[in-house]
Amino acid sequence: NGEVNIGWHFDNSYTQLPGALFTKQRPVPVRSPKLIVFNDSLAKSLGLNVKALKSNVGVSVLAGNRIPEGTSPLAQAYAGHQFGHFTMLGDGRAILIGEHITPSGERFDIQLKGSGRTPYSRGGDGRSALGPMLREYIISEAMHGLGIPTTRSLAVVTTGETVIRETELPGAILTRLASSHLRVGTFQYVAAWRPVAELKELAHYTIKRHFPYVEESENKYVAFLEEVIKRQAKLIAKWQLVGFIHGVMNTDNMTLSGETIDYGPCAFMDQYHPATVFSSIDIKGRYAYRNQPGIGVWNLARFAETLLPLIDDEEKKAINVAQQSLHKYEKLYKMYWLNGMRKKLGLSNEENDDETLIKDLLHLMERYKVDYTNTFRYLTFDRLDETDLSLSEGFIRWYKQWQARLERQPVSKAHSKQLMREHNPAVIPRNHRVEEAIEAAVERADYSVMERLLDILSKPYAHTEEQEPYTELPPPSNFPYQTFCGT
Ligand code: AMP
Ligand code: MG
Ligand code: MG
Repeated sequence: NGEVNIGWHFDNSYTQLPGALFTKQRPVPVRSPKLIVFNDSLAKSLGLNVKALKSNVGVSVLAGNRIPEGTSPLAQAYAGHQFGHFTMLGDGRAILIGEHITPSGERFDIQLKGSGRTPYSRGGDGRSALGPMLREYIISEAMHGLGIPTTRSLAVVTTGETVIRETELPGAILTRLASSHLRVGTFQYVAAWRPVAELKELAHYTIKRHFPYVEESENKYVAFLEEVIKRQAKLIAKWQLVGFIHGVMNTDNMTLSGETIDYGPCAFMDQYHPATVFSSIDIKGRYAYRNQPGIGVWNLARFAETLLPLIDDEEKKAINVAQQSLHKYEKLYKMYWLNGMRKKLGLSNEENDDETLIKDLLHLMERYKVDYTNTFRYLTFDRLDETDLSLSEGFIRWYKQWQARLERQPVSKAHSKQLMREHNPAVIPRNHRVEEAIEAAVERADYSVMERLLDILSKPYAHTEEQEPYTELPPPSNFPYQTFCGT
């Protein structure tokens, strides 16, 4: 029947969960799918046949026009706190095709985003515009390149149909890969509206899929909670270290696996300022750069609440235990962040005053309005003459302290330089570069700008000559950069 062997090995474990957690739903076919970007290396690492996926049959799978054999497509139900307000949500424009098992036995959700209406679409059209899907592709792959846990992007196809936003735009579908799409919001949905027996099933499923090692713990639900806390602390520390601002840290956008998800209004900070916000709808700065670690624990508290009935029969006791676990977040976050910052400064051991040294540098960066990424790069490569910072008296004092600190540690200068090279990226997805790539693709069907950018972003720690143009700042503008919840 024209089947080519793409190399899928599908499983549908999610369909074994209580029926309220999903609705079986096929993608709504699109008029004329065309492959725009494809992630060859990701496809290969999944054991998929690149040629077959790029063939007509493959592309019709990526567009949702053809359902691979052995799959049972569905839309997931979940709830969430959006900017602090609890509401019912669910996959409004995404379909989980199934879980692909790689040759090495790893399980990944294969999801089509922009694949038509579902029972959870509310007022939405279930579709996506090309621009935002390319943006998700670029930034998620950049995150992967930076070594930050994230959902990945396998492909973008255009649909041959338009979507109506403020204007008419070309429609597109992104194939998203995730170690799962289980979210804090998935648990919130079940805890709010379903019987405890279903909550238990969901918890078992999640533990089995992501945290099988907690199975043996004395109270496995507490151990489960603590693992989720740990992964989030680690993830958010990584965001802070590269200047990534997620922009919409609602509880439905926080995975339990600890992968970054939902690349709507996110962006990287150029000039260092803790209050940086890019999202046009985040008027109060709830999800500003400096608030991300605190929002992390707020979201985790919402998750902990969902587990109370499993932790102990007695609510008071359960709350106590959950709070004790949540207290660990702050310590863990601080540890991950401090250790990451130490590496960015070439420090391989610990001293009590390291935090002061780090914060002093950040304060100087804020005061002199310098670029976050480039400042660390200039420190790494002794290119301080290229930053305004070097002229300030405060910086000269700081620099001497830093040098003295480096000399006190028992490793060679070469070693600490190496550490810095490995932890200070040369390139991040600079907003103007991302915009430029999307514009070339959407306006002129020129995909070469994006392909080149993706190549550069795939090896941010290479520190090569060809990266240099991508380290440059955007031309000065009277308007702050703004992002929009990807539609
Ligand atoms: P987000 O802010 O991206 O996390 O999305 C919040 C909710 O809106 C999710 O349930 C999405 O599935 C849904 N949603 C976003 N865009 C659309 C759309 N165009 N059609 C239907 N649902 C959508
Ligand atoms: Mg979302
Ligand atoms: Mg989104």
